[in-house]
Amino acid sequence: MCKPETPDDGISGEKTQAHEPHPAVCDRGDACPLGAFADLDKTSWYHDGVEWALINGVMNGVGEGLFDPDGRTNRAMIVTMLHRMESAPVVNYAMDFTDVEDDMWYTEAIRWAAANEIVTDYGDGKFGPTDPLTREQLATILYRCAKAKGLGSTGLWAFPLTFDDASEASDWAYEAVCWMVMQGVIQGTGNNKLSPKGMASRAQVATMLMRYNAAEQELLRQTMEAEQISRQTAVSTLSYEAGRVRNSINEMN
Ligand SMILES: [Zn+2]
Repeated sequence: MCKPETPDDGISGEKTQAHEPHPAVCDRGDACPLGAFADLDKTSWYHDGVEWALINGVMNGVGEGLFDPDGRTNRAMIVTMLHRMESAPVVNYAMDFTDVEDDMWYTEAIRWAAANEIVTDYGDGKFGPTDPLTREQLATILYRCAKAKGLGSTGLWAFPLTFDDASEASDWAYEAVCWMVMQGVIQGTGNNKLSPKGMASRAQVATMLMRYNAAEQELLRQTMEAEQISRQTAVSTLSYEAGRVRNSINEMN
C-alpha cells in the first residue's frame, strides 16, 4: 500500500484517515509500504513503527521517493502527527502564540494542541514551531496527550529509571519520561542509554507514536472495563437493596 508523495516537510499533505489495524506480521515483501522509499530498509529496527505511521497516514514521505528516517523532527511536525492520530479535529480556540502564523500547514494542529493543553508556550508567548524536538520533549507532549484523556498518573508516584543517563533528563520532563518507560513507549537508544536530550529522529518518532497509540488504546480499554465492573457492582447492590425492601414490605403485610 503506497502513499502519494508529498514534496514538503514530509508530514503535511494528505489528511488523516481511519486507523487500520497494524498487520500482525508483515513478510517485508513487495506489499510492505517501506518498499516505496529508496532510503528505508525493511529489515531495520524501525520497520514496525514506520509501517504503522505510513499505513495510518500519520507520516508521509519527504518527496522524491524518500522517507528520511534519520531526519530530525520539530515541534510543529509532532503536533501535526498527533492531530492526525485524533482524526484532525477542528477547534475554536484563540491561541496567542506570537510565532504561529495563520494558515500555515501546522496552524490548526497547534490550535487543537493548545486548546487541550498538550502544548504550552516557552513562557514568553513563543511556541517555537520549527525548533527541533528532543526525546524528553516528545515524552512530555505525549504525556500531556495521555492526561488530556484522563490517563497518566496522579499524586505521588515513582518509577525507577535504570538507564545510565537517566539523570540527564530535565526536571520538568522526568515524570513524563518515567511514565513513557513504564508503558514501554520509550525503550532506550541502546547501551542502556535513554538519551533524553537527544534529537528525536523521524524513525524514532514513528516508533514511539506507534507504541504510545497501543499503550493508550490498552489503557482506555482497561478504564472502560473498570467502569463497566463498577457499574455492574452498583446495579447488583441496588437490586440487593430492592430485594431487601421488598422482603420487609412483605413481612409488614
Ligand atoms: Zn512491512
